[in-house]
Amino acid sequence: IKASVLDGTQHEDEMAEEPNDSAAKTMLEKLQEERKSLPIYPYREELLKAINDHQILVIVGETGSGKTTQMPQYLHEAGYTKDGKMVGCTQPRRVAAMSVAARVSQEMGVKLGHEVGYSIRFEDCTSEKTILKYMTDGMLLREFLSEPDLASYSVIMIDEAHERTISTDILFGLVKDIARFRKDLKLLISSATLDAEKFSDFFDSAPIFKIPGRRYPVDIHYTTAPEADYIDAAIVTVLQIHVTQPPGDILVFLTGQEEIETIDEILKHRTRGLGTKIAELMICPIYANLPTELQAKIFEPTPEGARKVVLATNIAETSLTIDGIKYVVDPGFCKIKSYNPRTGMESLLVNPISKASAMQRAGRSGRTGPGKCFRLYTAYNYENDLDENTVPEIQRSNLANVVLSLKSLGIHDLVNFDFMDPPPSEAVIKALEQLYALNALNSRGELTKIGRMMAEFPLDPMLSKMIVASDKYKCSEEIVSIAAMLSVGNSIFYRPKDKQVHADNARLNFHTGNVGDHIALLNVYASWKETNFSTQWCYENYIQVRSMKRARDIRDQLEGLLEKVEIEIVSNPSNLDAIKKAITSGFFHHAARLQKTGAYRTVKNPQTVHIHPSSGLAQELPRWVIYHELVLTTKEYMRQVTELKPDWLVEIAPHYYQLKDVEDSSSKKMPRGPGRAAMS
Ligand code: ADP
Ligand code: MG
Repeated sequence: IKASVLDGTQHEDEMAEEPNDSAAKTMLEKLQEERKSLPIYPYREELLKAINDHQILVIVGETGSGKTTQMPQYLHEAGYTKDGKMVGCTQPRRVAAMSVAARVSQEMGVKLGHEVGYSIRFEDCTSEKTILKYMTDGMLLREFLSEPDLASYSVIMIDEAHERTISTDILFGLVKDIARFRKDLKLLISSATLDAEKFSDFFDSAPIFKIPGRRYPVDIHYTTAPEADYIDAAIVTVLQIHVTQPPGDILVFLTGQEEIETIDEILKHRTRGLGTKIAELMICPIYANLPTELQAKIFEPTPEGARKVVLATNIAETSLTIDGIKYVVDPGFCKIKSYNPRTGMESLLVNPISKASAMQRAGRSGRTGPGKCFRLYTAYNYENDLDENTVPEIQRSNLANVVLSLKSLGIHDLVNFDFMDPPPSEAVIKALEQLYALNALNSRGELTKIGRMMAEFPLDPMLSKMIVASDKYKCSEEIVSIAAMLSVGNSIFYRPKDKQVHADNARLNFHTGNVGDHIALLNVYASWKETNFSTQWCYENYIQVRSMKRARDIRDQLEGLLEKVEIEIVSNPSNLDAIKKAITSGFFHHAARLQKTGAYRTVKNPQTVHIHPSSGLAQELPRWVIYHELVLTTKEYMRQVTELKPDWLVEIAPHYYQLKDVEDSSSKKMPRGPGRAAMS
């Protein structure tokens, strides 16, 4: 029965019930035309034959050729979903998974979440009916936990393989392994760049299918001297293109949400003064945390006479194709995670991109006609300072998460795991040590009961440990709220430029008694809940209602997982020490002590760090703190900070801290208590 629901005529019947039947039909027809005009279309039969003949196939094609949106549809049309099995397609990025699924559901004329769905962390938009499933690579990794042979899939497409995220790299090893005993499973490895040989080699010389791209020449312009401020240079370049260049949209590559918002604001301001002679400039931001309804805006056709400028993170490099781009502005930077295995610290840093990235970025301007790329760096920089390729994430990350996942999949021998590029052994050892200190592993390196519980949560081990530990401190209710709020990221508080003082005051209200940022987040959540999740309340308190709704969603799911691991949901709101101890149980690695200079020093592997100015404790400077994460901007900052009693470290993490680590050698000079006179 399921199969008949999926055949094309049936959909048209479904559509026919809609009042605007003919409009819907022409829309579908138009989309079918577009499908046929994609570079991949002439190779449809050949591709299907190659897939039929080989279990594993590497597919290479320019961005925009139709790999992501078309391949799964071809497979469906060719019968790979007949017996109700799914075609799964992984994406390194959340936004890409959602956006591509939405597009494919349109092309198939079905409702998103029905036959075509997506699954990303904390959001499952699939149903019983789903046969084409787009998902983040991390989600497929989690599916191995419940279905180690991936029996519900007939095809797995590991897309954007060139991105080499940790999850994709681990998936390579896992799917290669199951392909050996599931001969009926097809594996597609698809990539936008030409280092396909490496993928082929890894998958036992799997054949490579190249989709010839259509590419138009791209004129590359460099700056003559290095730019001191690439933000400013980007703005000037966009405006210059806008007033001097023929029609065509602009794509600017930026490093993150904050930068995008800044430029968005400045561009809006500057174009206001341009007068009516200059065409309208539509500004469309796109980044991971952008609300879904705004994401769709980048794909809307630009109105006649106007020009669109898309302000994007790396997501637009290969994951998303935006039609109509003729100009690319490339400042040459991206934010990447870097990890120091010696100190065990992970930080997001703005780094120069690789040459491979620079070429991809330039290529985005020449998809539908000749394009121009403005690199905001010199030709000399390009030749001499950029690396050829980006280092795979697995070689520059904290691996505690990966190790925990692999252990819970029963893979103990990490040294012999089939990695395409193995992580540094130092990082593996560090991860094992960290998991041991968290009590997730025993001294033989085996998963403990706590470790097994932690693995159920789709969170970093430190956060999952904090949640598991809340059982002991009888405050699981509060801790899941905090975990959910932390998982939303830094978009809870709204701070418009013209109302910063009001916004900051509103924020301090949640911080009464210098409770610390974690408890402040809890206060925000609890107060919102008290108002019955009022939107008005959010406005009045400079809180982003969207982020709060997301936090509520995540919280619900975490609560479900608590039940699954049989942790009782109990509330202990007045015992702040209990809550802080639970936090410490997860984050004791992140302890720092105040120095005479007013800066902090991390306790183990000493490093100088500072409280982020946005923290409620930024003026207070407690002697001992625990932080959620480090961000490096002008300084190394701790974000989300809470005061701590040093004896907790020894009590909670005896594997990690000894008394000597927390003894206060300077206690004679700096009396305990709230005085903090030494600081002024
Ligand atoms: P590839 O995976 O090879 O880079 P895609 O399958 O993502 O190519 O894109 C093929 C075409 O589909 C692109 O030309 C793009 O215009 C269109 N497309 C993809 N996603 C969307 C979307 N969300 N909205 C509108 N068009 C889209
Ligand atoms: Mg793609």
